[in-house]
Amino acid sequence: MADFDTPELKEYPVIPHIQEGVMAHSKPFVAKEEFQEQLGFPGELVDNWEQVAIDKMGELTGKYRSLQVFLDSCVKCGACTDKCHYYLGTTDPKNMPVARQDLFRKVYRRYFTFAGKHFPKLVGATDLTKEVLDDWYSYFHQCSQCRRCSVYCPYGIDTAEISMAAREVMDSIGVGQKYCNEIIAKVYKIGNNLGLPEPALADTLEGLEEDVEDDTGVAVKYPLDVKGADILVVTPSADFFAEPHVDGLIGYGKVFHEAGVSWTLSSKASEAANFGMFIGSYENMRRVSMRIREAALELGVKRIIFGECGHAWRVAYSFLNTLAGPFDFLDPKYPVPQHILEFTWNEIQKGTLNIDKSANDDMVLTFHDSCNVARASRMGPEPGGQFKIPRNVIKAVCNNFVDMAPETIHEKTFCCGGGGGLLTDDLMELRVKGAMPRMEALKNVIEDHGVTNMAAICAICKSQFTKVLPYYGMDMDMIVSVHQLVSNAIVLTGQTGEDDEDESADDAA
Ligand code: SF4
Ligand code: SF4
Repeated sequence: MADFDTPELKEYPVIPHIQEGVMAHSKPFVAKEEFQEQLGFPGELVDNWEQVAIDKMGELTGKYRSLQVFLDSCVKCGACTDKCHYYLGTTDPKNMPVARQDLFRKVYRRYFTFAGKHFPKLVGATDLTKEVLDDWYSYFHQCSQCRRCSVYCPYGIDTAEISMAAREVMDSIGVGQKYCNEIIAKVYKIGNNLGLPEPALADTLEGLEEDVEDDTGVAVKYPLDVKGADILVVTPSADFFAEPHVDGLIGYGKVFHEAGVSWTLSSKASEAANFGMFIGSYENMRRVSMRIREAALELGVKRIIFGECGHAWRVAYSFLNTLAGPFDFLDPKYPVPQHILEFTWNEIQKGTLNIDKSANDDMVLTFHDSCNVARASRMGPEPGGQFKIPRNVIKAVCNNFVDMAPETIHEKTFCCGGGGGLLTDDLMELRVKGAMPRMEALKNVIEDHGVTNMAAICAICKSQFTKVLPYYGMDMDMIVSVHQLVSNAIVLTGQTGEDDEDESADDAA
């Protein structure tokens, strides 16, 4: 099926021997001219690209002081070298975080430091050549911007920021990545990553209402563009149709129904994802975010709640107020934004939801912490809430839960292998190899504790695992949404139970 070997899963993590250049060939398709231009970038490589790139580097290091500090402060201690899932899975030394940073740093040194300008060889500084640019394109698209390396760096150097800057420089000279840039263009044109227009979205939601009523006998609503609703839900467009994402959306609707609140989705902001972050573009991240503000204002909602999407929650939690605020038109009682898990956990604590945990007894669950939630955001009022709240909710609706090894969860979690704008089939080898550390940890809890399913709260993680699990001999259906578990366990008020159905069938007979 594939023209590469799937890495072997070991019982204990093993730091691999390096194999230079084994992933140099891995490059995503380049974006077409029309999509580049829609995002405000040149359509193709500009003539004086070296100078434009250097000017952009200067602009970025001047604007983002953290970037300059990261470029100046690495002491080559080596603590990060074996912390990247892409290095562990591919064995290519340029996937060691420090080596990835150095691809950018050596050019920065050459043009922006005294030593690099005058004694380049002494400080490892190099000119920006076509060969260097090729390496950037390859290896800055082998970083999912997961920030795991930064957890282990004594200086807190964040390779994700360097990778974002490198992608922004490449976009500025006309070398953008097809997958991310085409998706952002679709959001501008239609409102979501999938290019799902309003009538198709309305049909899908109507279909969900029918399915839930058939299953439960209760008319749970999945409303779209309802003016005056209290809550605007912004969720990844994968929630509208893909498995297991849509089962999560069904769960959100059931929770809102039982909580007795009015809510709506928006056809204008029918996408939580914000790929502007992956390409490091503040302007595009802002433009994508503004749809949410505009939709909230047009619909007159009082609260904004985000569905299960990892990087969208990072953008929402960390940047939304700066990008699209102030949100002074919303109800000040609720933080902007909220996560669906915060809402659900609150309802569980209040006792609003009637839960039958045994509905999930056919599963033994583990939980995959998504990078952007774990290392770039929070949930709830307490530190570490982003680790506790998802687990609290899972344990409130399931009887069987086991965590994976401590060095692979919470802030040390491994990326699924498809984050950061790399969830594209032209990077399948990278995605499969990059998933190896997570697959290894999963296999261990399957063997030791009989785990049958892994829950996640990120659309990218769910899609990535669905695709890569079979490469490791595991079932693609073992990945589930957290709100799918909630949905299974909620007993809706007035719900027709299986016994009732059996009885009515007997009566009819
Ligand atoms: S941010 Fe993640 S993907 Fe990028 S170098 Fe660090 S560990 Fe690897
Ligand atoms: S851990 Fe930090 S200081 Fe050490 S080599 Fe890596 S980036 Fe440099």
